[in-house]
Amino acid sequence: AKCACMISASNILCFFFQWEVVQKTLNGSQLYTYSICNVGEREQDNWLRTTFIQRRPSASRVFVELQFIVRDCNSFGASSLTCKETFNLFSSESDADVGTTFRKGQFKKVATIAPDEITGKKELRINTETRVVENLSLKGFYLAIQDIGACVALLSLRVYYKICPATIQSLASFPETVAGGENQALREVSGECVENAISEGLPRIYCTVDGEWVVPVGQCQCKPGYEETEDACKECLPGFFKAEASSGKCEPCPANTQGLDTGALFCPCMDGFYRAPTDPPTGPCSGLPSAPRDLVATTSHLSVGKLLLSWRPPEHTGGRTDITYSIECLRCEGPVCQSCGEKIRYEPANVGLTLTKVTVSELDAHLNYTFTVEAHSGVSAFASQAMPQAHKLPLTSALTTSLLSLSWEVSPKPRVQARPIRYELTYRKKDDNLDVTTYTVLILEKNSVQIPDLSPGTAYLFRVQALGSDGSPGGSSIEEQYETLSEGHLAHNNTAVISGAAIGGAVMLLIVVIVLFLHRRSVLFFFLNEQLKPLKTYVDPHTYEDPNIAVLKFATEIHPSHITKQKVIGAGEFGEVYRGILKVPGRKEVAVAVKTLKPGYTEKQRQDFLSEASIMGQFAHQNIIRLEGVVTKFKHAMIVTEYMENGALDRYLRDHDGEFSAYQLVGMMRGIAAGMKYLSDMSYVHRDLAARNILVNNTLECKVSDFGLSRVLEDDPEGTYTTSGGKIPIRWTAPEAIAYRKFTSASDVWSFGIVMWEVMAFGERPYWDMSNHEVMKAINEAFRLPAPMDCPSAVYQLMLQCWLQDRSKRPRFGDIVSLLDKLLRSPESLKAIADFDPRVSIRLPSTSGSDGPPFRCVPEWLESIKMSQYGENFTCAGIVSMDQVMQMKNEDIKNIGVRLPGHLKRIAYSILGLKDQTSTLIL
Ligand code: AMP
Repeated sequence: AKCACMISASNILCFFFQWEVVQKTLNGSQLYTYSICNVGEREQDNWLRTTFIQRRPSASRVFVELQFIVRDCNSFGASSLTCKETFNLFSSESDADVGTTFRKGQFKKVATIAPDEITGKKELRINTETRVVENLSLKGFYLAIQDIGACVALLSLRVYYKICPATIQSLASFPETVAGGENQALREVSGECVENAISEGLPRIYCTVDGEWVVPVGQCQCKPGYEETEDACKECLPGFFKAEASSGKCEPCPANTQGLDTGALFCPCMDGFYRAPTDPPTGPCSGLPSAPRDLVATTSHLSVGKLLLSWRPPEHTGGRTDITYSIECLRCEGPVCQSCGEKIRYEPANVGLTLTKVTVSELDAHLNYTFTVEAHSGVSAFASQAMPQAHKLPLTSALTTSLLSLSWEVSPKPRVQARPIRYELTYRKKDDNLDVTTYTVLILEKNSVQIPDLSPGTAYLFRVQALGSDGSPGGSSIEEQYETLSEGHLAHNNTAVISGAAIGGAVMLLIVVIVLFLHRRSVLFFFLNEQLKPLKTYVDPHTYEDPNIAVLKFATEIHPSHITKQKVIGAGEFGEVYRGILKVPGRKEVAVAVKTLKPGYTEKQRQDFLSEASIMGQFAHQNIIRLEGVVTKFKHAMIVTEYMENGALDRYLRDHDGEFSAYQLVGMMRGIAAGMKYLSDMSYVHRDLAARNILVNNTLECKVSDFGLSRVLEDDPEGTYTTSGGKIPIRWTAPEAIAYRKFTSASDVWSFGIVMWEVMAFGERPYWDMSNHEVMKAINEAFRLPAPMDCPSAVYQLMLQCWLQDRSKRPRFGDIVSLLDKLLRSPESLKAIADFDPRVSIRLPSTSGSDGPPFRCVPEWLESIKMSQYGENFTCAGIVSMDQVMQMKNEDIKNIGVRLPGHLKRIAYSILGLKDQTSTLIL
């Protein structure tokens, strides 16, 4: 407890009625007292009042301590009859100082004060008494003393209240708090954690009436990287770390780690040592395994094209037990080598091997093969995190107007046993137009390159980044600027231009080699182009540590002021899709679709949303939806794509049922196949190819869309949960992808077959109302969708090829495009129509076991074949019963106003089916 306020009697008391200031000598020192001693007179009522005492708002309870002397009445002889030995303490609250105005009636009695010791003739006896004035609520108050006939001297009057002083308890600081009164004996006070400490709940404590802190609740703990020292949190010293918020101390760095900085949350691995993603970040680091030893290949005369590879485990395991092996195979025909890909078979597998042997089969006798066995451990994949930093980009020289030669330094130097590192060189024109930036990315094996075909006299910005063996990025250089020579130099540099062109060719070759290399490493799928032209390959934005960088790299940033949203046209997974206008200064206005991210998104959702742009931005093809750009630098992220007037293909076909010829439909399929060929050439597997994910523009061009990373998992309403937790659109998905998630371009081909069916059936739902389970069972039992009505035989044959169980036997997208092109070049090839069974291909309910037509009335029947729009035609023609319907001939159907050939056939076939009372159907 503390006294907050002390007031000496001399400066606060006012005189009233007969009290007077008297000088007294006490223990040799002089002091002033307020005294009164009218003991001989009757009915005394003498008041002494304080000046106005202002109150601190929270101090509702004050203490009044009085020091006083009372004379013994006996010492006054005859006067002692009326003499008193007590006096009274009064108080009165007020919001304002009333000056010298005094009204007795306004005062309330606090207590009668009696001395413990009375003063006789000789010695002065000083008494000290304390009383409490409670429940004060106005701005201030007065105290008053009433004498009723005693001989009293007041030495001092002290007024105070009690506080709990500011304190730090369990790393939480609590402010000075005025102690409560009787009605609030314990005041609850909230505190705050000291700097660098955190707590789960709000730290609290109680302040007692007596000004004491009691019962702290909720503890603060030092943040990761800090430890408690004397009511404060101090940073861990170098060589120590603390990973979590706790009351514990910083711990020394574990084995093979280094602690260079203060305040470490964990200790980073020493050079050449790594942690696997499953290793705790607080644990020790381990080294990479050394190479497997004594690789031996054994052939057998009994089995041609078969080979047994065996080896011994590596000498050093890097202190880990999770060693596995992978095999890589190159096959060479003359000087041209390429990856063996899926052409050979490994038993048990070519990756993740725990045994030290593998059988390789289906080898070609006349080819040379090179096998590489690599040892991996849990840290191999993670090793790239510690990639050497590519930095400093000193230009060797600018050779010509169009060729630049670059090399860069790397540190630390790549270690010998580490996987070879690659470099990703990104460059762009240093262009003032911030809206359009084109990046060129080269993947290189060496830390130098010559870049041909640059514009003369132009400044370019270059950045180089080391890449891990799995494509994950290491350190990156800062962006640096170099310029090609301007045209004026050309005349002098003729020879340089020629040699420059030659080197340029070498660079191209280098890129191709690297493309193949990518193929090997990242299982990215590639064709070696005839002219050694570098082919682009799709880069999974996930390989970027920071997905925002991927967006920046593959998409153009658009200023939101260049976008005008006009109308909502759809609902995407992340927010509304709008039709709008994009007007970039200096460029033509274009109609666009604008996908928005709804407010309240998390960072992860924002990244997932933008990942679609990172993927789409890598594609440039007539039949792939084109990305115009993104808005990432403003609160409302957006993805802007070309606008497709006719929306999603399934819907569009349903709305135009029967309106297109087979030739037109095959043309649409050709477009989709071309887009898919492009995607598969870029090693991109779509996984959710379906008519609902194809968009149609006003010239009926079809374009593949929907490229989100989490797309199949979350977005598609057709997605069905599988037991392994994923979500798969069963009806569109190849059996191997459903069974063991083998998603490949071959499984995309299966889906393409379903899309062909959807197109030919004008947006009919594949497998109609069969359940997913029934669909899977039917496919397993080798049933396939029947030919839609009017489907050219060649087209249905192609569908069936797409649905071959053995995925290696399915056509490639390249084959599909060629075949469809062939059909389109000779339209008569579409004339032969596939066998069509209306009982199968038009969804008719089962009638087995019943006599007569299965429908009770015409509208019910029309609805079942989705031809309700002709209800009125039937009624007007007086055809109101199913019996009448069954009598109808093709001519009659035409006569009642069904003109479209597709609809005509649909109705006619259905009637045919109704007559044939055996329609039990389905597959
Ligand atoms: P998504 O999130 O891509 O599935 O888009 C939702 C819906 O918005 C689609 O089903 C289309 O109806 C519409 N939509 C998306 N992109 C476009 C576009 N580029 N042009 C026209 N409509 C689009």
